[in-house]
Amino acid sequence: MPPGGVEHRARQMSQIAGLVHQWATDPRIGDLISECEADADLVADPSSDSAANLRELRKSYDRATKLPSDLVTERAQTRSIATHHWQEARQNADFDLFRPWLEKNIELARRTAECYGWADGEEPWDALAEGFESGMRAANVEAVFTPLRDRLQALITELVGGPKQPSTALNHVVLPIDAQKAFVRDVITAMGFDWSRGRIDDSTHPFCGGTCVDDVRLTNRYRDDGFVDALGGGMHEAGHGLYEQGMPAEHDLTPIGTAASLGIHESQSRMWENFVGRSEAFWHWAHPRMVQAFGSAVSGLSERDMYEAMNLVEPSFIRVEADEATYNLHIMVRFELERVLMNGELAAADLPHEWNRRYKEYLGVDVPNDALGCLQDIHWSGGSFGYFPTYCLGNLYAAQIFEQVRSDVPDLDSSFAKGDFSPLKSWLNEHIHAHGSRYEASDLCVRATGKPLSAEPLLRHLEGKLRPLYGV
Ligand SMILES: [Zn+2]
Repeated sequence: MPPGGVEHRARQMSQIAGLVHQWATDPRIGDLISECEADADLVADPSSDSAANLRELRKSYDRATKLPSDLVTERAQTRSIATHHWQEARQNADFDLFRPWLEKNIELARRTAECYGWADGEEPWDALAEGFESGMRAANVEAVFTPLRDRLQALITELVGGPKQPSTALNHVVLPIDAQKAFVRDVITAMGFDWSRGRIDDSTHPFCGGTCVDDVRLTNRYRDDGFVDALGGGMHEAGHGLYEQGMPAEHDLTPIGTAASLGIHESQSRMWENFVGRSEAFWHWAHPRMVQAFGSAVSGLSERDMYEAMNLVEPSFIRVEADEATYNLHIMVRFELERVLMNGELAAADLPHEWNRRYKEYLGVDVPNDALGCLQDIHWSGGSFGYFPTYCLGNLYAAQIFEQVRSDVPDLDSSFAKGDFSPLKSWLNEHIHAHGSRYEASDLCVRATGKPLSAEPLLRHLEGKLRPLYGV
C-alpha cells in the first residue's frame, strides 16, 4: 500500500473492527452462553470439551461487552495511523514524529482499562494484560522479575568479565542467502514441521501465522552476514509453527483448538530456538552439515566455535537480537515503563529519557538514538500495552517444561546429536500441543511439569550453560 493509502486503510480497519465487535457482543450470544452454562451436563467436568469451550467463550464475550463500540472503532483507526507514524519516526530516529500518536494510544489504552476495570489492589495495567495472558497481574510479574533481574545482572557481569570469551567467528562469516535459506529449511524439516500443512517465506520481521491447523505459515529474514539470527529466527518461528500444527484438529476453529496463552506459545518457540538450537548436542549434528552446505566459508570453524558463537552474551540495544541471558532485561524495562505510563506517572514525552536511563542501569549501555531505543518495537504503536511480559513468561515456561522433558525422556542429548528431534516433538505434542486451551496456562504448567511456574529452571539453565563457556 502506498503511504497515501494510510488514512483510508485506517477507516476500513475501523469499520471492520466495529462490525466484529457488534457481532461478538450480540445479546443472543450472551443468552446462548448462559443457557449452556445452566446445563449441568455441559459444565460438570471443567476440563470437558463443552466446559472448556464455554469458559473461553464466556471470557471473551464478557470482555468484549465491556467496551463501547465507539472506543473499539476509534482504537482501530488510531492504531493504523499510529503504526504508520511510528515507522516514519523509527526510520528517522525522531521520537517527536511518533509522540502525539503515542499519547493518543496511551489515552485510548487507559480508557480501555477503565472499561474493563480492575480489582482492589490491582492497577490499570492488569486490566489490559488480562487480554494477553489470563491471570497475569503486575504485582505477580514484579515478584518474579525482581529476583530474576538481580541474578541475571550478576550473571551477565560475571560472564562479560570472565576469563574465557567465546569464539565469535560464526557471527561475522558471510554466507550466500540462498544457501542459508536451504539450511534453515533443512533444520525446520528435522524439527518435524509438516510442509504439506505449512510453508516459509521472507518478511521484514519473522512471524508465524496461518488460518488453521492445516495451514501454518512462517516467515524469516536473512542477511549475508546474519546467519546466527536467521537460524535462531527460523527455529523460533518453526517452534510456534509446531505448536499450531499440533493443535487438536477436531477442535479447529473453536476455543479449545487454539493456544493456551501467548506465554505458552512463546515457550514453544524459545525452546527450539534456545534449548535446542543453542545446545552442544545440536551443534554436534549441525556442524558437519554446515561444512557440507557452506564449504570453505565455515570449514575453519570447529563444532565448538559454532556452539560458542550461538551463546555469546553481550548487552545490546535491540531486544529481538538479544542473547538468551540479556533478553529478559529488555522485557523488564518495557514492563516497568508500561506500568507507569498506564498509571499516569510517566508522560509520553519523558519516555525516551526514562528508557535510556533504565538501559544504562540494567544493561550498562548508552542508547545512542531513539531508533535503537524506545522506537524499536511495534507494540505500542498498535496500542498493545501489557503484552511484553508474555515473552519473558515464555522463557520461564520453556525452561521449566524442558527440565521436565529431560527427566521424562532418557538420552535426549544423544538423540539431538544424531539429528533426531522426534522425542522432544512427541513429548510436546502429547503434553502441551494436544490440549490447545483446554486448560488455562497456569493449570497446563502444573499438569505438564508438576509445579507452578518458577524462575529457578531458567536460572539453572543459564548459569549451568553459560558459566563453563566463560570459564567462571
Ligand atoms: Zn515468538
